[in-house]
Amino acid sequence: MTASADRNAASKRRIATLAFWSIAVAFVVTALKLLAWRLTGSVALYSDALESIANVVTAIAAYWAILVSHTPADEDHPFGHHKAEYFSAVLEGVLIVVAALLIIAKVWQSLSNPAPLDEPWQGLAVNTGAAVINAVWAWVLISNGRAQRSPALVADGQHVMTDVVTSAGVLIGLVAAIFTGWHLLDPLLALIVAMNILYQGWKVTSASLSGLMDRAVDIQENMRIRDVISANSKGALEVHDLKTRAAGRATFIEFHLVVNADMTVGESHVICDRIEDALKAEIPSVRVTIHVEPDDEAKLPKGTAAVPFA
Ligand code: ZN
Ligand code: ZN
Repeated sequence: MTASADRNAASKRRIATLAFWSIAVAFVVTALKLLAWRLTGSVALYSDALESIANVVTAIAAYWAILVSHTPADEDHPFGHHKAEYFSAVLEGVLIVVAALLIIAKVWQSLSNPAPLDEPWQGLAVNTGAAVINAVWAWVLISNGRAQRSPALVADGQHVMTDVVTSAGVLIGLVAAIFTGWHLLDPLLALIVAMNILYQGWKVTSASLSGLMDRAVDIQENMRIRDVISANSKGALEVHDLKTRAAGRATFIEFHLVVNADMTVGESHVICDRIEDALKAEIPSVRVTIHVEPDDEAKLPKGTAAVPFA
């Protein structure tokens, strides 16, 4: 096994373990929130619990996507299975939107029929416990997801974080409702939280959709790639038509390398291997395709070869 295959296997185990525990945490938090709702009869706490049920479903989807995305490339999918993670992230975004719509529906009902809460302090204590568990877990998911370049884990963490925001809004609203006796505060704050959830859902979904649309790497990463190619293209005349795309953890890079027309295939291949090795050392899970061309394909005028990029 190569060092990079080892790293990949370790990363897969770590991500899969986190995704698995995410399901367990989502179950515990959902149970606590349902208990808080049963204790109080609060519409807002009911909505909060509904959003957690969406969390359980998406945690399972994320776990599946992570297992699929780490499957090595095969005959049917020669470029790998990385994009599976985007599907779960998009599903996640859609479910966040559904949860927001459910909350809005509940708010609508309760506006016409506001009622005081049963056992408010017990319910609030239970819901606070659930929110604290969620906040810690969201932080674990997002920081690990970024470190492992897993969009599914990051999306999962962001979803859990929107859940924390929901709970915080609901708790503040309920405390205020208890002290002021103004029962309308409960549904009104739930409505504000639903708007925030919609915004979060849009963010998660649009980020994953651009991944599905083969979006290029960001500008910093692009500059880094250009620097690495420049520093390792000695013997070549020019590089042009650099194209990149990010697919989950994987980065795909392709470009044209212009060399002297009378250079041998062997000599140009040495340059290609040097660039490929340098890119692999710099960027994890990178796939490089280089198209070698003779100097009459150059885009820069002759004699400007000191500038490698066209
Ligand atoms: Zn070309
Ligand atoms: Zn080769």
